[in-house]
Amino acid sequence: MSVALTLTEPRPRKAAPRHLADLDLAGCQSVLSEIGQPAFRAKQLRQQYFGRHVGDASQMTDLPAAAREAIGEALLPRLLQPIRVDSCDDGRTVKAVWRLYDGALVESVIMAYPDRVTACVSSQAGCGMACPFCATGQGGLDRNLTTAEIVDQVVNAARLAEERGLGRLSNIVFMGMGEPLANWNRLKAALHLITKPVPDGIGISARNVTVSTVGLVPTIEKLAAEGLPVRLAVSLHAPDDELRDELVPINTRWKVAEVLGAAWEYARVTKRRVSIEYAMIRDVNDQPWRADLLGKLLKGRLVHVNLIPLNPTPGSRWDASPKPVEAEFVRRLRDAGVSTTVRDTRGQEIDGACGQLAASVREAGTPGRTAAEPPGASGAAE
Ligand code: SAH
Repeated sequence: MSVALTLTEPRPRKAAPRHLADLDLAGCQSVLSEIGQPAFRAKQLRQQYFGRHVGDASQMTDLPAAAREAIGEALLPRLLQPIRVDSCDDGRTVKAVWRLYDGALVESVIMAYPDRVTACVSSQAGCGMACPFCATGQGGLDRNLTTAEIVDQVVNAARLAEERGLGRLSNIVFMGMGEPLANWNRLKAALHLITKPVPDGIGISARNVTVSTVGLVPTIEKLAAEGLPVRLAVSLHAPDDELRDELVPINTRWKVAEVLGAAWEYARVTKRRVSIEYAMIRDVNDQPWRADLLGKLLKGRLVHVNLIPLNPTPGSRWDASPKPVEAEFVRRLRDAGVSTTVRDTRGQEIDGACGQLAASVREAGTPGRTAAEPPGASGAAE
């Protein structure tokens, strides 16, 4: 395996532009006063941005036309430049590739279901966790996203979902690029902004927000102490340390028993059922004995298992488990009394499925192909 596990925070190449999603109300007001604008505009801006998902001051018709440009420059720079927006599954899955102010690339995916609209967002550009079956993990860590860059993915997803008639964004999963708990301070601030009611935040119920982690135990404890009832998903992928050391390299630091211990404590404190993510990899982690061992570890706990058919990444030696093997794995877990489902595989044709994010644009070597194109202008795969 070529990619090293990285826990240290990389230094940003240059400072991120100032954006209202990185400021509180008072901070926003003081920037406005610096540019000679009345403080009450802060509330207007936050209402427009968080509540109506308008990110461009020139479209804020409740601001005086003459002031829009100065306000936009001071507080609403464009953080995410759309490089491409593709859709599949009849337009019900949409993947956006964004370029950040320093050229870093991130992706987010919107999935519309009959009862909810979910955005899968990124917390880092790249990832330092080096899981060998994951495309993002194979690219290494580029940098942490700022709070505003995380929040702006949600605001853009909400707007895209509305523009495309998919409905109101209801759920957020931190299952895009990056390890959210390795970017804890920004993630924490973003979680508060995503869940606070408008105009202080986007107003998505914390119960509909999922934070997925490889299992950074001390930070799971911090998340539990935060008092936000978000759902915790733990990417387990193996019930035994020997295999998990290979599949999820951070396991060499925090073992299966410690990760599960933190998960049960999280469930106790938040009273929320924990999700266990388990990618089904043919002949690697899909043996009946591993299903039985997993069942033994999870039995009687406030837990749900999500089995994810492996999405093979380019050049990977691994493949998804055959369906009968998967069915037997499910049966054994359910026999142990563990609630289990198999995740649907949305977004495969547009490289938007689990573990596929952010490989394609970089590999194709076409950065900024359609940087001027607004979201919704391409929609290639429909
Ligand atoms: N770093 C976090 C969140 C990002 S990944 C985490 O690991 O939980 C979201 C989920 O997709 C994780 O469970 C991850 O293990 C899984 N995943 C990664 N690559 C995959 C692949 N090729 N096929 C299926 N699932 C994959």
